[in-house]
Order: sequence, then C-alpha cells, then structure tokens
Amino acid sequence: MKAYGIAIHGGAGTIRPQDMTAELKAAYEEALSEALNAGYMILEGGGSSLEAVVASTAALEDHILFNAGRGSVFTKTGGHEMDASVMEGSTLMAGAVAGVKQVKNPVELALAVMKYSDHVFLSGDGAQDFALEQGIPLVAERYFFSQFRYEQWKAVRDSDLYMLDHSSKAVEEMMKDKKFGTVGAVACDSAGNIAAATSTGGMTNKKYGRIGDTPIPGIGTYANNKTCAISCTGHGELFIRAVAAYDVSALMEYKQLDLAAAMDEVVMKKLKNINGEGGMIGIDAEANISMVFNSEGMYRAMQDSRGNREVAIFRG
Ligand code: ASP
Repeated sequence: MKAYGIAIHGGAGTIRPQDMTAELKAAYEEALSEALNAGYMILEGGGSSLEAVVASTAALEDHILFNAGRGSVFTKTGGHEMDASVMEGSTLMAGAVAGVKQVKNPVELALAVMKYSDHVFLSGDGAQDFALEQGIPLVAERYFFSQFRYEQWKAVRDSDLYMLDHSSKAVEEMMKDKKFGTVGAVACDSAGNIAAATSTGGMTNKKYGRIGDTPIPGIGTYANNKTCAISCTGHGELFIRAVAAYDVSALMEYKQLDLAAAMDEVVMKKLKNINGEGGMIGIDAEANISMVFNSEGMYRAMQDSRGNREVAIFRG
C-alpha cells in the first residue's frame, strides 16, 4: 500500500495572532481538525482521494466560520453566490459550478456535474436546475445569513469596494477577531490517485455576477496524477491571471520541479510580483504535501499515513 494523505485550507489573508482571541483560535482549530478527520477517515478506510476531498470540503462548507456554503459572504445585492469545483487526477475529469444561490453544499453539486452531466462547468439558475434534478439539497436563503457577515457587507455595500473577506484594512478594522475564508482540500489515496476540491462565497460586495478563481479548473483547482493536486485561496482576479494551479503542475511536468519548489515559485514569486495575495495547498502522488502562502496567515491542516499531522493558522 502506498502512502496517503490529505491537506485542507480555510482561506488565506490578513490573519494575525494579535487580532484573534484564544477562543476564536480554538474554534478555528477545532473546525479544521474535524474537517481534516472527515477526509482522512475515508482515506484510512481505503476510500478514494475524490471522496476524501469532497467530504472535507463539505464539512468546511457546513461551518459558519468559513466563507463557503453556510458562511458565504454577501454580494452587492445582499444575496449569496457560491462557486465550487472538483478535479480527479487519474482521469483529469473535472466538475464546476458558479453563482449558485441556494445549494447547501456547492462542492457536492460540482461533483455531480463531473459525474452525471456531459459538461464540466454549469452556472447560475441552470446549475441550480441540475441540482434539483440530481436531488442535491437546496436550502432557503436565510440558511446563509450570519450577523457578522451582514455587518461586514453593510459597511461597504454603498461603495464600489469589493474585498477578500479577510484582507482589506477596512475589513480588518471592522471584523477584528472575525476573519473567514474560502475552503478546499487536496488528497492522495492509498492507490496513488490524487484529487482537489475548492469552494467559496467569493468576495464581499461582489457584483455583476463576478466569478473568481475557485471554480475554474486549472486556476483555483487542479489535479493530475502525473504532477499534483492543488487548491487555491486568495485574490481570485490575480490567481486567474497567473493561471495559478495549473502553473504549478506545468513547472513539475515540463521543468521537473518538485511540488514544494513549484508551489513556491508560483505563490512567492509569480503571484507576489502581481500583488496576488493568498496561498495554496498541494499534494503529489507520493502523498508529499506542501502548504504555501504569501499573506500573513492561512487556515490550514494536514495529515498523512507517515504519522504527520498539523493544524495551523499563522506563519511559522
Ligand atoms: N479566491 C476566492 C475568490 O476570489 C476568494 C478567497 O479565496 O477567499 O473568489
């Protein structure tokens, strides 16, 4: 049996120890730990990396602390529009949804698109119709309501500002110890197959049907058994311009960089050079894991069959 492992993230940004109470830090660590367990248990039981990344991502979507599923940020019009994607490294199959409003777990809809439609990417009302057809649970808008996100949006809704939910000064001031983020997972199973999933509510006060990097295969999410599985978080517009996730894979495939070096190149050089704040988690088919970010913090966790386990928020 080969080594297996999983890594998850709950967003990157201006996440600093001085802004966080011990209680909030503990709440984040517990949420990350539970979501990590959800995926790791599947790998331990011989399940696939695809099942594991969907389980961990769905667990994070269900948690109010993170900007995905239940905890999604508000759009300019006071609603919620969520994006998600999954990709399987053994087949290069991918599924993605963008701008869905009432889907409880967008990552499960992305998986259904991959498995049961002839397409890769569905959006808006059409994606929701497909969810209905597939029996994917829908919920009322109020399921996504949270007071702190409402306050966060209220402070910027009359402006043209839109923001990464934990990175601007305005948000920092406003939210103090409440910082939240996009979620995702990458895993390698005992058969050596890798997969990635990412899910988000996007950016606070976004408008015009804005879509970020998260649902785009090759940008926010990518998986290829030959190279790596990647899930990104950060300022989506810049990640799109950097073709972030696939760029890591290309550096590995065409320049023979290892996972850590390739991720470093993309996050610490390419993205940083264009002010692309954020980070990514990655795994290869030997279950080597790397978690890299150019922001102050990234909610993250990993566990592998070699006995390594880590739950972390800040740098160092
Ligand atoms: N990447 C996401 C987006 O731009 C936001 C985030 O990662 O927090 O929609």
